Amino acid sequence: MMQTLMTFFKTIFLVDLLKGLWLTLKYTPQPAFTFQYPAERRPTAPRFRGVLRLQVEPGTGAQTCIVCDQCAKACPDDLIALGGHREPGQKIKILDYFDFNLSRCSFCGLCAEVCPTKPIKALVMSEDYELGSYSRDTQVMRVDQMYDGVAIEQYTR
Ligand code: SF4
Ligand code: SF4
Repeated sequence: MMQTLMTFFKTIFLVDLLKGLWLTLKYTPQPAFTFQYPAERRPTAPRFRGVLRLQVEPGTGAQTCIVCDQCAKACPDDLIALGGHREPGQKIKILDYFDFNLSRCSFCGLCAEVCPTKPIKALVMSEDYELGSYSRDTQVMRVDQMYDGVAIEQYTR
């Protein structure tokens, strides 16, 4: 009986509506937590996993990938195919191709995790997250894109 009366008075005096309005008033003077994307981009978290990227030696721009194939073997979905050749007198293999099928990647990070090169990891998960494109073909990234990043498509109406 008491519960029914409480509900009745709450309904009559619009208590829930007033509670909602009070919340709105409380947060209205505070600055908005909205980023004006794409003009503004929210910074990513330190361990954010974006699209895969190959890295070169920072000073020299030399290839760091040793073409060991561990990343391709670690991928549970078989999304990486790579190959290289050995030049006479060269210690490490030259990377000829590195194809990565972005469209089915689950961003699990296993491939980057097993990459053994030090101090620069040849394969890392970058902070790039704008990965949409108009066709499936462009979702397969070739070696140049693996170094330079994905070209961002500008959407038009
Ligand atoms: S992040 Fe995971 S799914 Fe994507 S390529 Fe690497 S191992 Fe494969
Ligand atoms: S990216 Fe790393 S794991 Fe993959 S082949 Fe190159 S060195 Fe090996």
